[in-house]
Amino acid sequence: MNHVESPNKKKFLNGEYPLDDLLITGTEINYLFICPTKLWYFAKGITMEQESEWVDLGRFLHERRYGGEEKEIQIGSIKIDFIRRGDVIEVHEVKLSKSMEKAHEMQALYYLYYLKKLGISAKAVLHYPKLNETREVVLDGRGEEIEWVIKEVERIKSLPSPPEPVKSKKCKKCAYYELCWV
Ligand code: SF4
Repeated sequence: MNHVESPNKKKFLNGEYPLDDLLITGTEINYLFICPTKLWYFAKGITMEQESEWVDLGRFLHERRYGGEEKEIQIGSIKIDFIRRGDVIEVHEVKLSKSMEKAHEMQALYYLYYLKKLGISAKAVLHYPKLNETREVVLDGRGEEIEWVIKEVERIKSLPSPPEPVKSKKCKKCAYYELCWV
């Protein structure tokens, strides 16, 4: 095993983000899989009231102790909680329910993709505390899929107007409901 750390990896482990080409946030990747219209509104800086549950869940990681070397790093506008266990980096994400599991998976893969660009092999762990479940996500063989997803997010963000909304059960809890349907 190669124990020589790249300069970028060292910066990362010191809490710095050494790449300046990250224009897409993990939230945007997540929203692509929830609803492209939602992604467009969010990317244009249109924000609505946040659900308080997310604030409560955000505290989960800070209260929970995993052991190992825990750190937080800002990537774009997103903070990633990660833990170093020897040579292994784990990214941890806390989610409310599994109803958007694909979106959670792709967001986690996006983080792993960027960490790989820094020369860092990592795995992600999704936490569903309300279900008392966790799920591991690894990047293996999925780099091209993420590159496609990044291009798709860029395409949606570049549209002059929001994609036509498509009504689904997700709309009921969506902060943009009134923009789409009232
Ligand atoms: S209300 Fe529905 S269509 Fe509109 S942004 Fe939200 S999820 Fe998408």
